[in-house]
Amino acid sequence: MKSRVLVLGAGFGGMELSTLLSEALGEKADVTVIEKGDSFVFGYSKIDVMFGRATPEAVRLPYRNFVKPGVHFVQETITAIDPVARRVATTGGTHEADFLVVALGADYDLAATPGLAEDGHEFYSVAGASRVRELLPAFSRGPAIVGVSGFPYKCPPAPSECALMLDGYLTARGVRGACEITLVLPLSSPVPASADLSRALVGAFAERGITLLLGRSVKALEPGRKTAVLDDGTELPYALYLGVPKHQVPQPVLASGMAENGWVPINLRTLETRFPDVYAIGDGAATGLPKSGSFAESAARSVASSILARLEGGEATPNPGTGSCFVEFGDGRLGWVDMDFLTGPKLTTIYHEPSVARRADKVQFGDRRRARWFGL
Ligand SMILES: Cc1cc2nc3c(=O)[nH]c(=O)nc-3n(C[C@H](O)[C@H](O)[C@H](O)COP(=O)(O)OP(=O)(O)OC[C@H]3O[C@@H](n4cnc5c(N)ncnc54)[C@H](O)[C@@H]3O)c2cc1C
Repeated sequence: MKSRVLVLGAGFGGMELSTLLSEALGEKADVTVIEKGDSFVFGYSKIDVMFGRATPEAVRLPYRNFVKPGVHFVQETITAIDPVARRVATTGGTHEADFLVVALGADYDLAATPGLAEDGHEFYSVAGASRVRELLPAFSRGPAIVGVSGFPYKCPPAPSECALMLDGYLTARGVRGACEITLVLPLSSPVPASADLSRALVGAFAERGITLLLGRSVKALEPGRKTAVLDDGTELPYALYLGVPKHQVPQPVLASGMAENGWVPINLRTLETRFPDVYAIGDGAATGLPKSGSFAESAARSVASSILARLEGGEATPNPGTGSCFVEFGDGRLGWVDMDFLTGPKLTTIYHEPSVARRADKVQFGDRRRARWFGL
């Protein structure tokens, strides 16, 4: 009998893992991918949507095109996970597995920041970014805050990108002089893993008159007073609040007993949870590494090698903890940083200075995955 692999979630981690298993095993694979959505959207496309560079429809990649030998895609919502029995309940029934891989990403807890849902605008979901896209043209004066409500959060550079993109957007409309922009980050620098990138971002903020507040997060919004309250008691008035909500694993993972302090503990090298033959990859795993798509992919490669070693023999490859983050500088230039946390004894990074020409690399990043996962 074939070993059944159940992959929960078809994001960066889940799609890469199932693609690798399909490539290695073909029709011999017995992989079921359970996903609640009907389409995939790259994280960075939300920035494009919000600033009007792409429509919400144009950035959706329908899962009907995610077709791989030996992989069965099921569009159902997961309601409960039993990691001991490796059994999953969904809106469509029950699924059991020999290997279970949790790749459900991170959800947003808007309620953890009182006032955010009422008067703020999160831009980390397609729906949120689409709403911001509609309201931005009406914003022409007063203070704008780009605020983060907790750590860890996805794509550490994204709030900085948002502040720089907002600057570029308001400048193009000729209203930048009437607006202030403040960026509130809970970190010690914009992207702590890369001193070079952080320096470049701090320089860009200074050049463009963006106020940067580090080491603080936004605790609440007071809609009546149009004021954001930070965790150190600082109060900031806003006319426009663009927010990154507190993150945590989706509810079924919280309820499964797999998570501690909001995230699933794993062995960093093998991505194994404390439950036999149950792995967690991507944003939901408590790796301490940046929560980004390329890190989810490197974890997926490691888990694929581990499952294949169990099924076919051979060596499993430890998680290298490698990944890259693109950064929009808001003036047409794009930079990025490559990070390697686990291959050597310490973190190594390579910073690629921003330029307009580098935009082609981001396009290529998307094109390669569109072709690999969706055959488009
Ligand atoms: C604004 C922004 C910009 C970003 N920019 C970049 C970038 O430039 N580069 C980069 O590498 N990363 C970037 N990211 C981060 C990247 O999108 C995430 O880190 C990545 O998607 C994580 O992959 P994952 O597989 O862990 O989770 P996801 O890709 O989020 O996939 C999880 C999947 O699980 C599904 N799911 C959740 N709950 C259920 C349920 N109950 N039942 C069924 N299915 C469920 C979801 O629908 C989703 O499809 C950005 C993110 C944002 C928000």
